[in-house]
Amino acid sequence: MPFGKLATVALKSAFKTPATRVKPREPFAATRGQIVYNVDTCTFCTLCMRKCPPGAITVDRVARTFEIDYLRCIVCNACVGVCNPKSLTMSNVIGEARTDHQVRRWHKDAPAPAAKPADKPAGA
Ligand code: SF4
Ligand code: SF4
Repeated sequence: MPFGKLATVALKSAFKTPATRVKPREPFAATRGQIVYNVDTCTFCTLCMRKCPPGAITVDRVARTFEIDYLRCIVCNACVGVCNPKSLTMSNVIGEARTDHQVRRWHKDAPAPAAKPADKPAGA
């Protein structure tokens, strides 16, 4: 490249804003950061577990427990899409870097046991 052209490009570049952003940076609204779970609205339907490609979620319908392994999670958003009560959402805040399996576990109090025949009103 001739020197004149090179100097022009260098001068233009000196006054342009950078094409990239320096870290740490603010996430975009649609950034897939990490999964957030709300045990209060979860129905333990197990749909998220069945749709999760790497098997990061474990749901026990009977024990009413939900587990997620954040190291396995590839932040694909598949579980969020199938969760009808919106118990799973995608936060745009990127989680900390992980090198080991960090399983988080929630447990919802067991539901009231089904009524026994003796508990039913007479004549029912
Ligand atoms: S899909 Fe939603 S409601 Fe169903 S088990 Fe998963 S988190 Fe709970
Ligand atoms: S975002 Fe994808 S990989 Fe992560 S828990 Fe949900 S379905 Fe599994």
